[in-house]
Amino acid sequence: MSHTSEQESAPPWDAAHVNLTSKEMAPGVFVVMPDDVFAKDHVATTAGFVIGERSVLVVEAMLNGDLASQLIGLVRRETSKPIRYLVNTSYHGDHAYGNYLFPDSTVVIQHPATKRYMEENFEDDRRFMLGLMGKGKGIERVQSRPGDITVEDKLSIDLGGRIVEVRHFGFAQTPGDLVIWAPDAKILWVGNMIQAPSPALPWLLEGRHKETIATLARVRDFLPDEAIIIPGHGRPMRPADIDFPLRYLRELDAAVSVALDEGRSVEETLEAVRMADYGEYSLFEWAHNAVNVPAAFQHLQVLRGLEA
Ligand SMILES: [Zn+2]
Repeated sequence: MSHTSEQESAPPWDAAHVNLTSKEMAPGVFVVMPDDVFAKDHVATTAGFVIGERSVLVVEAMLNGDLASQLIGLVRRETSKPIRYLVNTSYHGDHAYGNYLFPDSTVVIQHPATKRYMEENFEDDRRFMLGLMGKGKGIERVQSRPGDITVEDKLSIDLGGRIVEVRHFGFAQTPGDLVIWAPDAKILWVGNMIQAPSPALPWLLEGRHKETIATLARVRDFLPDEAIIIPGHGRPMRPADIDFPLRYLRELDAAVSVALDEGRSVEETLEAVRMADYGEYSLFEWAHNAVNVPAAFQHLQVLRGLEA
């Protein structure tokens, strides 16, 4: 497992200037979002927490100690019940690096692939995150804290009078993507498999876009129409809003397939697969040209090699 590209330009958001706020979407079910979430098409990591009669489950741990402390502070403003569970939607640093700030009594939940990655690749990943987010953003002080228990398919957690489900729908952005479903509130946290609503695009950092398409379609089918999705870096959205990244990924797949049929190189494919209709996204240059087109090219090449 490795990142396909690194960014040397401006970070997608400034980790030194994030102000987290919480909003109660249903009794005891809180969504945590950066305060600029309605002003931008891509912001810092979202999170959340669910309060039961006995204990609290937190979704995501954020990038660094400061942001994890902000998140824990938002929980403490609402309840003094113990934070019994913490779920990481992926191994990505902005979702899992803050684990070390939570009490020892908190059970960290990850997919087995996320746990394995964090155990084996943490220092490489820290280097990647320092390259992406910049130095002096608290990443240097992070301590790796892999999961205590793992979820391969589905786990129901009873917080006391309230069930929360942790599910794996398949590869979406990483092999270990987990989603968190609060059935009574009909809220689903999805992490990075959806960055934000339109015009935001998926980031295929590990390629395999055909699997991403299948997984996003499964998530869409699972959700009732009135459900609310909390994407990894944007404002709440509806299940119908998944159609936008699905359409983009299918168009990308078709266009890169044509380029391969025509025998184009990856550079020529970048020229041919402009998809300028999607250029409104503030991170289009990075997501589409630097990450997604080369990733789709490579994935389709590998699949064709397997068929040949
Ligand atoms: Zn993220």
